[in-house]
Amino acid sequence: MKRILLAIALGLVILSSVVLIKTVRFTSRQLRVDPVSQVAMNEAQIAEHLAKAIQFRTISDQDPKQFDKKEFLGFSQYLEQVFPKIHSVLKKEVVGDYSLLYTWEGQPGGLKPILFMGHMDVVPIEPGTEKHWTHPPFAGRLAGGYVWGRGTIDNKVSVIGILEAIEVLLTQGFHPSRTIYLAFGHDEEVGGLVGAANIARLLYSRGVELEYILDEGGAVTYGIVPRVSAPVALIGIAEKGYLSIKLTVHSQGGHSSMPPQQTAIGILSTAIQNLERNQFPAEITGATGKLFEYLGPEMPLTERMVFANLWLFGWLVERQLVASSLTNALVRTTTAATMFESGVKENVLPTKAKAVINFRILPGESVQSVIDHVRKTIGDARVKITPVKKVLSEPSAVSVPESSSFENLHRTIRQIFPDAIVAPWLVVGATDSRHYAKLSGNIYRFVPIRMDPGDTRRFHGIDERISVDNYENCVRFFMQLIRNSHS
Ligand SMILES: [Zn+2]
Repeated sequence: MKRILLAIALGLVILSSVVLIKTVRFTSRQLRVDPVSQVAMNEAQIAEHLAKAIQFRTISDQDPKQFDKKEFLGFSQYLEQVFPKIHSVLKKEVVGDYSLLYTWEGQPGGLKPILFMGHMDVVPIEPGTEKHWTHPPFAGRLAGGYVWGRGTIDNKVSVIGILEAIEVLLTQGFHPSRTIYLAFGHDEEVGGLVGAANIARLLYSRGVELEYILDEGGAVTYGIVPRVSAPVALIGIAEKGYLSIKLTVHSQGGHSSMPPQQTAIGILSTAIQNLERNQFPAEITGATGKLFEYLGPEMPLTERMVFANLWLFGWLVERQLVASSLTNALVRTTTAATMFESGVKENVLPTKAKAVINFRILPGESVQSVIDHVRKTIGDARVKITPVKKVLSEPSAVSVPESSSFENLHRTIRQIFPDAIVAPWLVVGATDSRHYAKLSGNIYRFVPIRMDPGDTRRFHGIDERISVDNYENCVRFFMQLIRNSHS
């Protein structure tokens, strides 16, 4: 008995020593950088450049017939007019009729080129909500220290911000040592299959290999991460895959006074219920694992100890993460039944029931492994399983934060946003950058703007806007990043 107690006591001592040592070694990953002096800019002018860009209704509608080419052509001409230096020094190519590829040639035989992305298209305004906007969504108003309108955050801020930064650098006589590409898609909001996909194909056919790619995705966020009081700059190092599966059940039909045990609706409902009850496993790995490696050390002691010892407390953290839909999406392939259709009349047995289940696939899984899981979980031959091929994408590779390109980005963020903690992150939506997978192993998704919690609902929503200060800092960031990428 005594021996057993002794063994337990010894075990506990060893366990707590390991926990303690790991906690002590779990130190901050934040780079210490000297602040850079703020470049003076013509605030009124740059704000106006962005505001005017909002006035072009470069809308990507689900219905391709709504596409208004004159808005896109007008936007492209507008860029020539406000950024004359860029248009005299950089090479401009039109790809897929409306997307733009700019090349700023570096020294021959120099470092590997880099690529900055943005998209010129915006989502439509939901019918009936126009009147709820403080300023009309396409008026491009400058009021109360903000630029208002659709595209101010998603994503004309990147397109105009990058161009503005380069126009200033050209004025200062800056010559890049490595080639810089700018790729601005015109159909990101409907999948990027014409714009981004063709630009990527074109660069690939030219044998281009990129040191890194920067696209939209994360931002400098506030209050998203509990127990971290500082703003957190989330850099997307991976993005989830996308798959919708159609489930169909056919049955006999007939009068509802003599029904079978289960109608088509019942069979399909059971299938969906099985999928909801058998969720994909949750795991803190890959990009989400990296997120906590960077955030954990910035948390108070107890949390720091927990995140330093996920080998012991992982189950506890997972339980917390899956409890909120925001964090649940970071740790597993999600299952969402989004459409259901069946029945024509209350006393008629339906001959058909169909549903659509949308999956967002965690890196590590694949489209095929999700289909296999669905087949096995439903386990009912009466339910026909058909993947929707039109929009489907595999999860991306994970761009490791240990690279010098990530460090460069990290350093630049700390220079321009000195109060922010930098952390890698998993993008749960899809970006145009997924088309560029073959061109670089370092793909980062980050827009250099501050987004407070209130801004999230403006994104694709009502009253999208950006403050002039915030935007000015965004331009500064791109200038600094370009300078930092050339030393
Ligand atoms: Zn976007």
